[in-house]
Amino acid sequence: MTAARVIVVGAGVGGLTSALELAARGLDVLVLERAAHPGGKMREVVVGGVAMDAGPTVFTMRWVFEELFDAIGARLADHLRLQPVSVIARHAWSERERLDLHADVQRSADAIGALAGAAASRGYLEFCARARRIYRTLETPFLRGSRPNPMSLAHRVGFAGLPDLLRIAPMSTLWHELGRHFADPRLRQLFGRYATYCGSSPFLAPATLMLVAHVEQDGVWMVEGGMHRVAQALAALATQRGATLRCNAMVDRVLVRSGRACGVRLANGEELLADAVVFNGDVAALATGLLGADAARAATLPPAERRSLSALTWNLLAPTSGFPLSRHTVFFSGDCAREFDDLSTHARLPSDPTVYVCAQDRSDDDHDAPGGAERLLLIVNAPATGDAGAPTDEELTRCEARTFHTLQRCGLTVQRRPEHSLLTTPRDFARLFPATGGALYGQASHGWTASFSRPGARSRMPGLYLAGGSVHPGPGVPMAALSGRQAAASLIADQRTASRRPSTSTSRPRVMPGGTSTR
Ligand SMILES: Cc1cc2nc3c(=O)[nH]c(=O)nc-3n(C[C@H](O)[C@H](O)[C@H](O)COP(=O)(O)OP(=O)(O)OC[C@H]3O[C@@H](n4cnc5c(N)ncnc54)[C@H](O)[C@@H]3O)c2cc1C
Repeated sequence: MTAARVIVVGAGVGGLTSALELAARGLDVLVLERAAHPGGKMREVVVGGVAMDAGPTVFTMRWVFEELFDAIGARLADHLRLQPVSVIARHAWSERERLDLHADVQRSADAIGALAGAAASRGYLEFCARARRIYRTLETPFLRGSRPNPMSLAHRVGFAGLPDLLRIAPMSTLWHELGRHFADPRLRQLFGRYATYCGSSPFLAPATLMLVAHVEQDGVWMVEGGMHRVAQALAALATQRGATLRCNAMVDRVLVRSGRACGVRLANGEELLADAVVFNGDVAALATGLLGADAARAATLPPAERRSLSALTWNLLAPTSGFPLSRHTVFFSGDCAREFDDLSTHARLPSDPTVYVCAQDRSDDDHDAPGGAERLLLIVNAPATGDAGAPTDEELTRCEARTFHTLQRCGLTVQRRPEHSLLTTPRDFARLFPATGGALYGQASHGWTASFSRPGARSRMPGLYLAGGSVHPGPGVPMAALSGRQAAASLIADQRTASRRPSTSTSRPRVMPGGTSTR
């Protein structure tokens, strides 16, 4: 019996995870990636002759990767060097107002007490306990499970877990519930920022997203060599287990026969046949018909107004002074409500942005600061309007000035040189991730039903599976990996069921006329 052939479209975290798991289980896997390198959003760019991360920087939920590697008989530690941080992130509102959140909850509570008083410190401890409860309530039935609906989620949680589910207050917004724990607007702003981890506004996202606080509390790691190493490690291991990775291979059609996905066509016209296809691009690309009219029926097109946020990012090689950057530092907007009003209501760049800075050459140890120019990634949230020609160059120039003004206000000077700077805008992200307008996290998590409206691993078309941040359980590196595992598990389960059924077709398609190949 020959191994089933699977084509994975896209070498982002979700696609690579699927490919690795399927190849390790003996399936014949071909990964097709339009970019020159695997990784997708987990990109690396070269600025001033130096490679640096241009996508995710915060590595959490290590257990997802431990379990993945265990499942295929490998050890994560043999492939990636991970170092836990003791300072999760440094936060600044001005030159005088700074706060470190530590891996140690009590140290964070003490730091919060010093910034905002004893009541804030107590509020923080209560908030942590609540975030932990929410996470524990949802980990198995939601994160690890196939896409639920509200009823099936309640069923999975079980009668005993229902009070916990109700206590999550899913109908209430994150912003509202944070108000119960924090009277100080700075702390509400800090923990409200967790909504942006899935490209959403804290004023519209459900309180459920408090669980992000627990995820970070559970551990943030630095990846030796940068986050892009995670993608390289997954790709190398998938290849070792027999998968083939073809980069610079743009898929422009999912081939369909008798209502079932049976392969893909590349932009150069080459057709490749398969028993099943895993699509790792954004589901909006499928639904808008970018992969053909047949495949468009496999997914529902999310309305553009439901898009998650995009970003402006600056990769810089530059000396800094005046502020002790940690590995992860957040410089806050002076007006949180206005920032999200700009982003969500007006779909425009924030006039007073919050700026996240990853200082890749630093650990969380202040004595560890590099001398001279260092690698920096600055991220500012932006609306996903990249396919509507926005923002304009003038708007970008204005936002850039305000971004560096925010840093300056908090004491940080960055000595930028244009030749050592790379700006990526929503227009660039829209080009890199087609049909998204630059949205980086699929649909926004706005409203309590949003978590249930992402598609699951099985698309509406037999033989076509979905993996990635636009799919259940949602965006973020570990979540995309979970979705990749779910796509692989669904595919294997369906193959098993099909193999038990009496065969109706005489043979599996292999070679089509006109130079179609099976590899
Ligand atoms: C600036 C930034 C910062 C972030 N920070 C964090 C963070 O700190 N921590 C965290 O956990 N997450 C973070 N994220 C989110 C995280 O990076 C993503 O959720 C995750 O990497 C998405 O993985 P994915 O599986 O959806 O694949 P993607 O990364 O979306 O990759 C999909 C791949 O499919 C390819 N593709 C699409 N269509 C086709 C086609 N037709 N033919 C061939 N190939 C195709 C694309 O080229 C791409 O390589 C960040 C994202 C960004 C952009």
